[in-house]
Amino acid sequence: MKISESSISTILEQANILDLISEYVELKKTGKNYRGLCPFHSEKTPSFYVSEEKGVFHCFGCGASGNAISFVMKYHGYDFIDAVKFLAEKYGINIEMGEIKPYVNELYSLHEEIGVLAKKEILLSKDKRVKEFLQKRKLSLDLIDEFDIGFIGDGINLETVLKKYDRDVIIKSGLFYERYGSYSFKLRNRILFSIHSLTGKTIAFSGRVLDDSLPKYINSPETDIFSKRKILYNLNRAKNYTEGEVRKIYVVEGYFDVIRMWEYGFRNCVSTMGTSLTEEHAAILKRYADEVVLLFDGDEAGRKAAIRSLDVFLKNSFVPNVLFLPKGEDPDTFLLKNGSDALINLEKNKKDLFKLFINKVAKRCKDNYNLKSKYLADLSKKVSLIRDNYLKEIYLKEISDIFHIDYDSLKKGVDFSLAKKILNRSERKVKYICEYDFISSLFSLPEDVLLELINDINEDYFFDENMKKIYKKVVEFLNKNVNISVLVNDPEVGDFLSELLLKEQNYEDDYYSALLNKYKICINYLKKIKKEKQQLLGKSKDNHEKMKILSEINDIINKQKEYEKRLLEVQSL
Ligand SMILES: [Zn+2]
Repeated sequence: MKISESSISTILEQANILDLISEYVELKKTGKNYRGLCPFHSEKTPSFYVSEEKGVFHCFGCGASGNAISFVMKYHGYDFIDAVKFLAEKYGINIEMGEIKPYVNELYSLHEEIGVLAKKEILLSKDKRVKEFLQKRKLSLDLIDEFDIGFIGDGINLETVLKKYDRDVIIKSGLFYERYGSYSFKLRNRILFSIHSLTGKTIAFSGRVLDDSLPKYINSPETDIFSKRKILYNLNRAKNYTEGEVRKIYVVEGYFDVIRMWEYGFRNCVSTMGTSLTEEHAAILKRYADEVVLLFDGDEAGRKAAIRSLDVFLKNSFVPNVLFLPKGEDPDTFLLKNGSDALINLEKNKKDLFKLFINKVAKRCKDNYNLKSKYLADLSKKVSLIRDNYLKEIYLKEISDIFHIDYDSLKKGVDFSLAKKILNRSERKVKYICEYDFISSLFSLPEDVLLELINDINEDYFFDENMKKIYKKVVEFLNKNVNISVLVNDPEVGDFLSELLLKEQNYEDDYYSALLNKYKICINYLKKIKKEKQQLLGKSKDNHEKMKILSEINDIINKQKEYEKRLLEVQSL
């Protein structure tokens, strides 16, 4: 799935990054840029910078960076397409339908139509098995309606829907087998749970059998509009019910649990689609909640599942609370038996998941020093997963208390350098400063000026590998008449570029900087090839060849002089 580069250009031109981010972060002007507390890691001194002029943000603490689109993706947990749409809507920009691959819109509408039909069918269904199932699982008409639950039974003909779509779209939906030119619906005779995107579109289905046969659930496969790793069931609704000082989201294991929680007033509740929680899930949860409460069965399997999810949260510097239900219960059965007050009461027993784990480990090794030492090493590794240094300290303190180990010696075993590493990765070499300044200045100059600037140098002129790559793409984009700020989203150079654009500039005027640094780059390049030619000359035995090389060197020297003259002119301005 792809939105055309020109649509993205329009969005980036019109979305003011300063206004956008100011809605979420308090920013203060500092020099040419704005500065505030990073929304992506916790900090006390602001290291999050925004450049209005260049349309980018960068955090020197955690390395988060990008443009308006990346900000919306990171902040709201949207994918690229949804972030573009969010901005388009906000700023009243039309993304032309034709510019998105047409089948993607058709995929959405195919899912929508199937969902609507299936819901209508379940509400009208005379099928005894369906009625029994709904009764047994206590799915009321209201809940069916709210959650877009459906059913496509044997007698239902999907032909009226399918005839509107190309074969390509039907196959890409992954919902059908094709046999002898006709399609059969993979989830027929199953209760259908509609899976929604964050913006509320139907993007997939999960189908449950009516009896106990296997497989119990069949899900849509991964498609252009659906990825199981990123989807939390009901998040599109739950995110609207997290208000309050501490935004809270419950995470449960199944669809029925989510639905029952909703019915009993816990609307801020989500679940995965039968998978373990992924790092993507944890990142999305962190965006929408200040507190996550995992609800698990109190049996051995439930406790293990809770512990298994610890690492994905630690990697996001976000530790959930966990609440175990009585053995053999899930939220669905618990609420039906005991009601919502019982759950509110039980919630008083929730525990910080990492603390719980530390205590469990401590208990396991009792007075065995060998075990203690081994587990301490394991725990240190877990603490090292956390990026946020304050959070690291908090848990180290906890471990030192529980294990009666000196805090400072414990701290030595933990890697505090992650955040620093991100900074060092792109630390600039003094030698190449003219290249950095040149590239950086390009991003605030008008297009006609750019075209004039780039007409006589190519990527070979650059020494720094990243600058080579960026420059090559800049030229490519300009020739295609695409706004170069799109490059901030580039998977290869995007991070480096947005960081570069926010480094302190050595010059106030971007055109002056571009010109000055371009001449420096040209001179460096000419010096380099002059040296190469001179080496070649030294090796050459052939007089004719020597003459040729000498004349080439002469040309290079003349060019170099020309650039040195121009450089002097600019410098004297
Ligand atoms: Zn940060």
